[in-house]
Amino acid sequence: MGLFDKLIKDAVGNAVSEAVKKAVQPKADELAANAVSQAANALNQTANQTAAAAGAANQAAAEGAQAASGTEAPSKEEMQAALGTLGSLLGGFAQRAAENMKLCPKCGEAASADKDFCPSCGAKLPDMTVADGVKCAKCGKQNEPGTRFCSGCGEKLPAAVQAEQAAAEADAEVLKQWAEKLPDFPVWSCGGSDMELEQETGTETESWRFSVTLVTPVAAENAVKQYRQVLMQNGFKTEGQYPDEEHLYKRVNGVSCHVDTEHCFQGDADSPTIYLDHSQPTGGYDYQKPEKKQSGGLLGALFG
Ligand SMILES: [Zn+2]
Ligand SMILES: [Zn+2]
Repeated sequence: MGLFDKLIKDAVGNAVSEAVKKAVQPKADELAANAVSQAANALNQTANQTAAAAGAANQAAAEGAQAASGTEAPSKEEMQAALGTLGSLLGGFAQRAAENMKLCPKCGEAASADKDFCPSCGAKLPDMTVADGVKCAKCGKQNEPGTRFCSGCGEKLPAAVQAEQAAAEADAEVLKQWAEKLPDFPVWSCGGSDMELEQETGTETESWRFSVTLVTPVAAENAVKQYRQVLMQNGFKTEGQYPDEEHLYKRVNGVSCHVDTEHCFQGDADSPTIYLDHSQPTGGYDYQKPEKKQSGGLLGALFG
C-alpha cells in the first residue's frame, strides 16, 4: 500500500465505504500534490541515508553531497507531525463528506443527503446520512465512517443494523421470487445470505441457478444435504440410467423437474450453487436395468 493510500485509510477507517474515499479523494489529491510528496521525498531521502550508512565511505559521500546541496532532511519527529496534521485534515474532510452523504442500501452508490431515492438504481434511500449511521445511539460517540461497532462502548451502530436488515429483506425477496417462478421446486430456506436466483440463458430447457453464502464450508455442505432431504420429502427421486442423489427428479403434470447439486461447490466452499431445470434423466424415468443373462450349463441348471 502506498503512503497516500495508507493516510486515507488511517483517516477514514478500515471498513470505510469506497464512497467516502471517493468524496475525499479530490481534496486529498490536492494535498498530495504538495504535502504528501514532500513527506514521501523526505522519507525516501532518509531511507537512502540509512542505506548509505552501511559503509563509512558512502556515509561520508552522502554527507558531502548533502552539505554541497545545502539541504537538510527533516527530522523523523517533524515528518511524523506533518503526516499527523495531514491525517487529521483528511479525517475532517471525511467527516464533512459523511454528513452530506447517504449510501444506497441496494447498489452501494453514494447520493447527496437531500435525495430520497438512489440516482443510480432508484431504490429508497435511508433517512440517515453516513455520519448519522456511525453515531452511537447508546453513548453518543461519533465514530468514523465505515465502523460497525461503536469504538466507545461496543454497541452495534445504526448503519450496521440497517445494512443487515436490507440484506435480510433482499434475501427474502429472492425466496419469494423462487416460489413464484419455480413453484414445482421446493424453496430452499437454508438461512444463508447473499442469495441470488438467475435464469440461465442459452440452455435447451428453462434453467435456473440459485446461489447462497453460508457461514462455513461445513454448514454449506450440510445445507445442501438437507435440501436433498427436503426434495425427497417432496417426491423427488433418483431416476434414469445413472441414479445418483446429486441429481433428483420429479414429474409434475408431465414436465420433468430436475435439481442438480453435483457441481454446487465449484465456486467457494461456503457458497453452494444449485441448478434447477426441466431436463429428463438419462435413459428416461422408466429406465429398467437389463436383466442379467441367464448362464447356461451346470450352474444354470442348478440356480436357474
Ligand atoms: Zn442504488
Ligand atoms: Zn457507543
